[in-house]
Amino acid sequence: MTPDLVIANGTAVLPSGAAEVDVEVTGERISGIRAAGTGQGRERLDAAGRLVLPGGVDPHVHFLIAFMGQRSVYDFASGGIAALRGGTTTVIDFALQRHGGSMLAGLAHRRRQADPVVTVDYGLHQIVTDVTEQSLDELAGLREAGVTSLKVYTTYEDDGLRLDDGALHALMERAAQEGLRIVLHAENHEIIDRLRRKAVAEGNHAPRFHALTRPPITEIDAVGRAIAFSRDTGCALHILHLVAADALALVAAARAEGLPVTAETCTHYLALTEAALERPDAPHFVMSPPLRSEANREKLWQALREGPLTAVTSDEVSYSAEAKTIGIDCFADIANGCPGVEARLPVLFTLGVAEGRIGLERFVELFSGWPARMFGLGDRKGRIAPGFDADLVLIDPTSRRRMTSEDNYGPIGYTPYAGMELSGWPVATVARGAVVVRGGAYLGDEGRGRFLHRGPADTLQELR
Ligand SMILES: [Zn+2]
Repeated sequence: MTPDLVIANGTAVLPSGAAEVDVEVTGERISGIRAAGTGQGRERLDAAGRLVLPGGVDPHVHFLIAFMGQRSVYDFASGGIAALRGGTTTVIDFALQRHGGSMLAGLAHRRRQADPVVTVDYGLHQIVTDVTEQSLDELAGLREAGVTSLKVYTTYEDDGLRLDDGALHALMERAAQEGLRIVLHAENHEIIDRLRRKAVAEGNHAPRFHALTRPPITEIDAVGRAIAFSRDTGCALHILHLVAADALALVAAARAEGLPVTAETCTHYLALTEAALERPDAPHFVMSPPLRSEANREKLWQALREGPLTAVTSDEVSYSAEAKTIGIDCFADIANGCPGVEARLPVLFTLGVAEGRIGLERFVELFSGWPARMFGLGDRKGRIAPGFDADLVLIDPTSRRRMTSEDNYGPIGYTPYAGMELSGWPVATVARGAVVVRGGAYLGDEGRGRFLHRGPADTLQELR
């Protein structure tokens, strides 16, 4: 039987390394890897001069979010298109447990929002805001519904998101029994709260006070405490958006000890520093945890090269330029977060591979392979191999182009990466066997994305 599609003459990054091959696709899956020039397919996508990568897996995005008084530009349709344009074919977003409410009801609500329109394959982490006997009894049901990770915030009390240490510890005890993993927003609430009140009271309102009121110790403390809870309960733990370099040693030591602990950093922490908070457009660069120093930035790259970081995520939040400016009079009112799901590939490829900080194979693991395995998708996503979903992105490794705010899909009006000269732009994206983006244009329908039932996580313990 002739395959449906052949991606011919590209350099594909396979589990064994980069090789010039033809990739054959039958239905939604990869069906064969052939010597270059020998692949067959009823449709042909020429990849000469291109790198062919497994489609990106971004396990940290917030589409359709309302937070700190602002709403995201993206919903699950437009956000998915942005992801696919950026070569990301799988995302993991979040379902919210309302305070005093059911987690399963929160999950069902999020799926009703996403399923009819979603354009990219997606999973959900469950945000836990209220730990009660009833909610703990829901954990087994979450796992059966394909949600194998629980998001906890250690701060954002005013927004009703924070869990205190007692609740987190109780949740981890039960999550360990159910084989679920905690994904943690790790910042010490009390230190931040005190510093913010003091800064606001003293009239220190400039955007740079966002970073000054969230010093590295807030991350270091919260990461260390959660690792101690992981050791005590046996619960698997993933640290979201780690930026303070001094917290890396804690994660590395936990892994060396054999604890099921992993960590990610985000695109913006690899590309930018706290110097951005002095610019006239400083509100665009307000996210939590905050941007840190240049020396800190290089230590994150080192941790991507040598461990313990095993993923680069976007922490995508598409507030518009206008919405970000609303807090210009006081840092405490600026909605946290920035767009990045679409920029993740060219920014990471350029700073990482093109500028020699990481090799091509490691880049692919950080962009796609390891996030898939860490979040229970390692049997279908993140790898170019027969039997895996035919999720692929073709990039041009050589052409260079300056990033502008127009490079975001939709009316966001800014990108934190504006002005950067980037390479590795995607030229085509294939999702479950269909060419869904070509030359930046989305060719699919709304609702073509699928909810992904995720299995247990791989903690990547072999990485040190
Ligand atoms: Zn986030």
